[in-house]
Amino acid sequence: MSSSPSPSPAPTAVILAAGLGSRLRGVRSGPKGLLELGGVTLLERMLAAVHAAGVRDVVLVTGHEAEQFAPLLEQRAPTVRCVHNPDYARTGSMHSLWLARSAVPGDLLLLESDLLFEPRAITALLESREPDAVLLSGTTGQGDEVHALGDETRLRALTKRKPAGEASLGEFVGITRLSAVTFAALCRHYEANVAFPSNYHYDDGLTAVAATQRIGIVAVPDLCWAEIDDEAQLERARRVVLPRLDASADPGPVPRKILLNPGPCTTSWAVKRALLMPDLCPREAEFGDLLDRVRSKLVATAEAQASHTAVLLGGSGTLAVEAALVSLVGPGNRLLVIENGAYGRRMEEIAKAHGLEFRTVRLPWGGAPDLAAVEAALAEEPAPTHCCFVHHETTTGMLNPLAELVAACRARGIVTIVDAMSSLGGVPLDLRTVPADCVVASANKCLQGLPGVAFVLVRPELLARAGDRPRRSLYLHLPDQWQAQEKERQFLYTPPVQVLHALDAALDEFFAEGAAARHARYAACHAVLVAGMKRLGFTCLVPPAWQSGLLTTFLEPSDPRWDFAAMHDHLYARGVTVYPGKVPGLRSFRLATLGDLRVADVERALGCMADHLRAVGLAAPGAA
Ligand code: PLP
Repeated sequence: MSSSPSPSPAPTAVILAAGLGSRLRGVRSGPKGLLELGGVTLLERMLAAVHAAGVRDVVLVTGHEAEQFAPLLEQRAPTVRCVHNPDYARTGSMHSLWLARSAVPGDLLLLESDLLFEPRAITALLESREPDAVLLSGTTGQGDEVHALGDETRLRALTKRKPAGEASLGEFVGITRLSAVTFAALCRHYEANVAFPSNYHYDDGLTAVAATQRIGIVAVPDLCWAEIDDEAQLERARRVVLPRLDASADPGPVPRKILLNPGPCTTSWAVKRALLMPDLCPREAEFGDLLDRVRSKLVATAEAQASHTAVLLGGSGTLAVEAALVSLVGPGNRLLVIENGAYGRRMEEIAKAHGLEFRTVRLPWGGAPDLAAVEAALAEEPAPTHCCFVHHETTTGMLNPLAELVAACRARGIVTIVDAMSSLGGVPLDLRTVPADCVVASANKCLQGLPGVAFVLVRPELLARAGDRPRRSLYLHLPDQWQAQEKERQFLYTPPVQVLHALDAALDEFFAEGAAARHARYAACHAVLVAGMKRLGFTCLVPPAWQSGLLTTFLEPSDPRWDFAAMHDHLYARGVTVYPGKVPGLRSFRLATLGDLRVADVERALGCMADHLRAVGLAAPGAA
């Protein structure tokens, strides 16, 4: 499919740098933007970040000791335009901003000059769909915080005095995006309500304007940043923030994409950055430490520390499914494949390719699974010794009843092999209470790692038993791979070192977020998606009770104006990837809400879809 990005015009960056910086007098007297950290001024860092985000037009509002900026601007940033606030000593930041109005031709990106932050702060704001938005972070503990109040998507107030009992939506970073319309409203509010001179700040102006004008919220909870107003904050910036920025060795922001395909998924910056690591020989102890860490974290994702071991393979998920089947289903064993989608069918293909003895129980795709048919197949003589099935059938977005299927197999002493490729990490999976024998998944779906590593969580006694049998495959023989990883702390053959390193970072994020919080985030994204798609007139294939909450199949409208490829191209040009359907004979498409996505991303995707539908005259395509 073709893509033709249509960039929106870049805003003008307005940097407020007029203040006295009086609380830093003990350290230095000049403008705070000229403070050097790690040998680079705050202003230079800010200009680099703004520039890297594609914003070339910059207005600097100077005041206190304005002349000090001249050498830096002449040598390093000659295109920056300056506006001077001669009343800087008796006015607040709103007056400085107001003075800049005639230098700003359209939308603006507003920044305070005393900030040290990760460059992704700016891309997050500019990539947001909100034309007016404040940037919020999680708790910094830096003191003098400005809290944002409102609902999850709309600002009501910015305040340093948060009312008791009211939750803060986050800390205001001091970076804001304003449309020309809202900026004009802000200036009008200032002119009409504030007598000159006044120490009035634009935070208060935004609060006033937010009563009538929508001002959105862009939250980057893990953003590392500092405001530098006093010595304690300067110290924190030097000790805490600067080392993190240096460690990130940020080569410039990588555009963030919203991937609604079911993996490889949208990943965090930390996961992408983990690819940048010192070259490492995988026969070194350092690699062994990494492998140990990843293996022990993987078993913990399914609460299986006491019962299962992790065996990793360099390759895609199918490779690990194939390894599990060829290693665990031995000569004389009989496999039952439960098939209600393309990935169940793939397991059948694997069994066929390796000449395993198998039967298949076929169930309708996307509907409620017929457990009686499964029971009958399990009971059929000669009885199966192994049973394999898919937990989340990514073909349709339906979640098979894992607990019931595992219980039915265990009651008959049948070994269970579960493809949890697109569910592990995204929905609860506790192998202490749902004791599947073998679970297969990959790094790049709900665990939010990068593609290239897949793994098997398996009971070691099954591997030991399989190790006594002749190999069906050299590479895919799990007992050999396990021995190498367990005893030698190495892969048997060359591992994807950097991808493993990224998986380690992704697992750290998984545990930092917490499994329950991740499940809740995914559920919230799914709920917003389904409600939004319904408003747009689309219908889901899978009934709500069986929806995974991770991927949703939508039926394509029959209207001749509907064209999935056109919709795809419209969204792709705006950084959103959607995915075709996979059910034979059914016109459908799929939207996954797994990965490092937030509700705001889903809303953005829905907004792009609504724009496209309107443009082609299909306001509510399926509603007719
Ligand atoms: N099983 C399931 C349930 C999947 O969703 C997928 C891929 O989407 C696979 C297996 C195959 O994984 P891969 O494409 O990584 O080989």
